[in-house]
Amino acid sequence: MSARAKHRNRGIVFLVGAGPGAPDLITLRGADALGRADVVIYDRLVSPELIRLAPPKAELIYAGKKGGAGKSIKQSELNAMLIERARMGHVVIRLKGGDPFIFGRGGEEAEALARANVRFEVIPGVTSAIAGPAFAGIPLTHREHGSFVAFVTGHEDESKGARSTVPWDELVAAARGRGTIVILMATARMRATLDRIRAAGLPAETPAAAVQWATTAAQKTVSATLATLADASARAGIGAPAVIVVGECAGLREHLKWVERTPLFGRTVVVTRSRETASQFATALRRLGAEVVEFPTIETAPPKSYAALDRAISRLSSPARNSFDWIIFTSATGVESFIERLKSRGRDIRELGRASIAAIGPATAARLADYGLRAAAVPDEYRAERIIPAIGIKRIRGKRFLIARAEVAREALPEILRDKGAKEVVVAPAYRTVKPKGAQIERMRELIASGAIDLVTFTSSSTVTNFCDLIGASGKGVKAAAIGPITAATATERGFEVVVSPGKYTIAALTEAIADYFGRGDPWPWRRQRSIKPLAGAARDNGARP
Ligand code: SAH
Repeated sequence: MSARAKHRNRGIVFLVGAGPGAPDLITLRGADALGRADVVIYDRLVSPELIRLAPPKAELIYAGKKGGAGKSIKQSELNAMLIERARMGHVVIRLKGGDPFIFGRGGEEAEALARANVRFEVIPGVTSAIAGPAFAGIPLTHREHGSFVAFVTGHEDESKGARSTVPWDELVAAARGRGTIVILMATARMRATLDRIRAAGLPAETPAAAVQWATTAAQKTVSATLATLADASARAGIGAPAVIVVGECAGLREHLKWVERTPLFGRTVVVTRSRETASQFATALRRLGAEVVEFPTIETAPPKSYAALDRAISRLSSPARNSFDWIIFTSATGVESFIERLKSRGRDIRELGRASIAAIGPATAARLADYGLRAAAVPDEYRAERIIPAIGIKRIRGKRFLIARAEVAREALPEILRDKGAKEVVVAPAYRTVKPKGAQIERMRELIASGAIDLVTFTSSSTVTNFCDLIGASGKGVKAAAIGPITAATATERGFEVVVSPGKYTIAALTEAIADYFGRGDPWPWRRQRSIKPLAGAARDNGARP
């Protein structure tokens, strides 16, 4: 087979379910496929955070479907595009909200691919039909309240003469008392649909709920009855995208609602650290229920010159009197860059053997440990000054120090060491931080302008200044969390209102302080009660935060 034919053979389309909104609800297989993408064609309801999983060089195409109308690529054009790109030998990811085969025309796209003889695979996703109820605390089946579930479109208009393809009468007859009906595309015709279900014979007092923007910070839930849901939803301002659940199971929400009880529910928090270091922090915030927007403001690049670092590295194996007694790492990135340089110079990690190692902060020590290197001194915070007591003044006097760190950094550490009697302090830039290219700047501007951002987090002064430079604005009107007093001062200077600044300068302490800031006492009051109250009548219950 020729190389060209082989390349063309590689072409494939993955119909991938992106999940209902929260980016971490995509499947592992879906995330893996995204990581291999040459082209990503994505819909409106797909989390922008997921786009990041595609390689930076991947082509991104917005299919922009909005309720089937508005400015969007025609289905036929879209199908043609999928076929054409796959035939060019590309790995094409068709990223669709929820599950690709639940509404949203995934079936039609697969048919077009099959007809064109284009290789494709389907990667299921968590459909909003399941995630919406789950995040509202509504089990779709239950031994006592529901023995089957139906996913139905609420989009079809019977009144326009055309008969609905949904067999409402049969469906409702079957559902009476023992089935659950989940309606998607439900908001535009909500009242008509609910009336239709009543007309088909479901009792007016049957529990019913609407869940909008499920799994995101904007999630809003209204529980009512079949008779009252349309009014209650209108009052609460429920609009698309929303799912409606009708059936006895919907009444279980009253006891089972859980998402509103997570400490950071309804909060959107921006993480501005570099992409390499952001994920742990982002995950910690997500675990507490926050919606996290990753907006990396710094990226690691090689230093302008490696001369100082290379000189220092070659001294490591020189006679003791010329070698270093201590090597100090001030960040995990510093460790990474230093070791990479060591390797690329053909050196061996054992050459570090003569020196003791100090790491500023637990994350730096953890990265050293990844290489099997144990730090002899670890101040427990990201503060240069703390290194002195950690090393011990006696072990500083007369000693030679190497500090491997970012090109531009505060001078405090070398000055303090010299001040305490160090014989020599060599500062060797191991990396440089730069503003990243390809930041989602427009999106961030829009989120800020619409008031969607509750908090921007800063883990260094350069994240503050780069954030402002990137979006081209000050921090006026924006609340911020800063890891320490220096970062906080920079943020204040740039106009942010710093509302969180933990006493201890670590990511763990910052996360905790953010949870405290938004905290609302014990979110699980019934834990203290001896028994759960019996099911009461369904009531209006807007789960949204004021
Ligand atoms: N394939 C998608 C559905 C596409 S149709 C899936 O499996 O979820 C679009 C409809 O999905 C919307 O009208 C709305 O009813 C529902 N929907 C999608 N995302 C939602 C969300 N986050 N919260 C509530 N409903 C959602």
